[in-house]
Amino acid sequence: MGLIVYIVFLGPPGAGKGTQAEKVACKLGLEHVAPGDLFRQAVKRGDKLGFEVKTYMERGDLVPDDITIRVILEKLNDINYDSGVILDGFPRNNNQAEALDKALEKQNKAIESVVYIQVDRAELIRRLSSRWLCRECQAPHSLSTEQAQNDRRLCSACGGVLYQRPDDDPETVERRLQVYFDETSPLIDYYKKQGKLTEINGEGEVEEIQNRITDLLRTSGGNYHKN
Ligand code: AMP
Repeated sequence: MGLIVYIVFLGPPGAGKGTQAEKVACKLGLEHVAPGDLFRQAVKRGDKLGFEVKTYMERGDLVPDDITIRVILEKLNDINYDSGVILDGFPRNNNQAEALDKALEKQNKAIESVVYIQVDRAELIRRLSSRWLCRECQAPHSLSTEQAQNDRRLCSACGGVLYQRPDDDPETVERRLQVYFDETSPLIDYYKKQGKLTEINGEGEVEEIQNRITDLLRTSGGNYHKN
């Protein structure tokens, strides 16, 4: 197994972390790891983890650190991969960031780069309230109120039925943004002090932002499979 590179995507809910992490991982041949996805899958399966995390997610609160850190470190240990990992939505507070640094340090590894995706608060609310996902392929779509009222809410990629995440309702969106500003945004300074943070403007076309991120990661000299 070769060198594994760890990249963190940081940013508020609605900044496009998930969309960008998925695309950039695919383009650079990296693994995409997102606690939100792992938790949603567990809730769908209805297993013990799903039961533990469900109420926190419904409220827009963070899942307790002991659960989140265990799930992510187990997932990272399971990855038999020789290029790199994009962590999307982890860490989300200082405690998680320190636990990750310690775990990597034990293996003589470290985070290489932190991509902070910056988007205005008003734009975040607009994006989250118009976000619909495909039940089949999970592709995100942005629908206006008018389009959302239309019967034909189908995925443009695979034709699957679109749905709204239960935590994208206006009240929970507010709560998630508050949690981000209180608990996650201090990580901007945490990684700035380590000299690892690069800020990316998250407004514009999806493709344009994707290019900003891939250019940044390529010029920072990561050990990626380039294609
Ligand atoms: P996301 O898909 O990243 O928006 O995450 C959805 C929800 O999963 C969050 O609102 C939290 O309840 C939970 N979650 C995701 N990542 C974390 C994390 N690093 N720490 C605690 N809870 C998390």
